[in-house]
Amino acid sequence: MILKSFRYIESKTIILPVLLALIAPVNSVVAGAQPKLVLQITVDALRGDLLNRYSKVLGEGGFRYLLDEGIYYNNAHYQHANTETIVGHTSLATGTVPAAHGMVANVWFDRERNRLVYNIEDANYHLLSAAADVDKKTEIDPTQKAAKVDGRSPNNIITSTLSDEMAVHFAGRSKIFAVSVKDRGAVSLAGHAGKAFWFSKASGEFVTSNYYYEAYPEWVKNWNARKPAEAYSGKSWALLEKPANYLFADADDLEYETDLAGFGRTFPHAYGKTGDKYFTTKLTLSPAGDALTLDFARTLLDKEKLGQSDVPDYLAISFSSTDYVGHIFGASSLESEDNIAQLDRTLADLFSYVDKKVGLKNTLIVLSADHGQPEVPGHLHERGIAKAHHFDVEALDKTSAIAAIKKQFGLEVSSGKKSDKKPDKTSDKANKEKLIEAYFHPYIYLNHKLINKKGLDQEALEKTLVNELLKFDGIAYAVSSAALRTNDLPDNEMMRSIKRNYHPKRSGDIYVVFEPNVFINDFDGLTVASTHGSPWSYDTYVPVIFAGAGLSAETVNRAITPYDIAPTIAAYLKIKPPSGSIGTPLLEVLDR
Ligand SMILES: [Zn+2]
Repeated sequence: MILKSFRYIESKTIILPVLLALIAPVNSVVAGAQPKLVLQITVDALRGDLLNRYSKVLGEGGFRYLLDEGIYYNNAHYQHANTETIVGHTSLATGTVPAAHGMVANVWFDRERNRLVYNIEDANYHLLSAAADVDKKTEIDPTQKAAKVDGRSPNNIITSTLSDEMAVHFAGRSKIFAVSVKDRGAVSLAGHAGKAFWFSKASGEFVTSNYYYEAYPEWVKNWNARKPAEAYSGKSWALLEKPANYLFADADDLEYETDLAGFGRTFPHAYGKTGDKYFTTKLTLSPAGDALTLDFARTLLDKEKLGQSDVPDYLAISFSSTDYVGHIFGASSLESEDNIAQLDRTLADLFSYVDKKVGLKNTLIVLSADHGQPEVPGHLHERGIAKAHHFDVEALDKTSAIAAIKKQFGLEVSSGKKSDKKPDKTSDKANKEKLIEAYFHPYIYLNHKLINKKGLDQEALEKTLVNELLKFDGIAYAVSSAALRTNDLPDNEMMRSIKRNYHPKRSGDIYVVFEPNVFINDFDGLTVASTHGSPWSYDTYVPVIFAGAGLSAETVNRAITPYDIAPTIAAYLKIKPPSGSIGTPLLEVLDR
């Protein structure tokens, strides 16, 4: 017996790890050890070049911690065509393209319900708070206005998320949470198994739906009762740094910036007072939205005791302000630059808090963005680049070209714009005659019932419409879904990106691609400075940075995709990748 035990202890497989553990310094990460927390940060619309461009206003411990101590992939691009928020967030969560995860656009036309739907709306659920639903009178997000019900859930996400895989692998013992100002920024990353919280502009609170909870946890009630948004009443968004420190110090008042709801084009931008019509909206259009998100996330981390057990927990935080600021003021503006500076301090605060509570060495951090953003045409004009303009959707039904199709097929054709505005108020009779059911960029949806009823050749109709659309100034490609289904397309990257966006139940019949630096900037009366969503590289380019958990600093120039993130985390945790994952695990992160 003694001899047997002795031999057992002597075997190399046992004695080596024991010795290594004894030699290793107390604070170092033990090779192969699981992190206690996976912290997935998304900065909405953080284009891949912006951190470098605005590096002068970055402080210590925020972005610099990630860039200087993490593994920084500086050549990451999405490969799907529709670079919108839900599409990118879900790709980050699932490691795959919209053709697989199904979130093909922020808004699509639901053939069964015969109306436009918002990506995560779900009539089976409701918000837990009264008076927290989208206020259509003050809502500036055109996609939110498409929602007909207040309920939100991840049920439209077809494949599993990394957070789902953690929930399954660790037998439900991983705590999984996601927080964002935007509902879709949180619901996507929480996956089907986690809990999501987001900011309601209507109530000024962080809210959730009864998909996740029957009642709010006490700490959420207490956080909301404190009314942190009201602390901004009567205050303004002011510059963080001395004006001389900014690249755009002398370019605050630009005629192509949007003065939305009295927020102004120049610093300081006054929030107004609690109760003012656009008070909470203005918070989201400024660094205040990110600061509130951080405050809520810090409380969550503490009260839910994340990173304190023997299995890894998951926290996703999506910071939305960069996107809103970009839409209103443009990527090249003093506002965008200051917003990055302020987000940098917000991240420094987050990392120092995580270090105190969990330890950065025990936390695997990944930061990326759901998409990039374009330059405002006015800014490009100032640089001498003339080929940049906004696209007038109204023009689509004024031309004789569309009228020609109408004549050819003997049908009424109404513009998508009109059907977007009042899809439910249109009379049944008019609906029957509408050839174009809806146009919600990037897809045009044809009236299938009418096509079937009249026995029209849909493929021929799509082809004719494509040819007519290509005559418009600013439209680079119009790709019919019939061509996608039959693979009747030129073999190039643009067509592949549209194919990766194609889901047979949700995609429209024609995909419209504008030329570079051309986009729609008018949404039902709301004018913005810029709109992302194109397949062009300014919209596909995002940073990908892994840090914490004992990773060593490295800058990687190799081309990667954000689809690689979820399978990399899965491989790091030694769990299976999400069900639709197509990404490749990043070896720099796994080599530990
Ligand atoms: Zn976004």
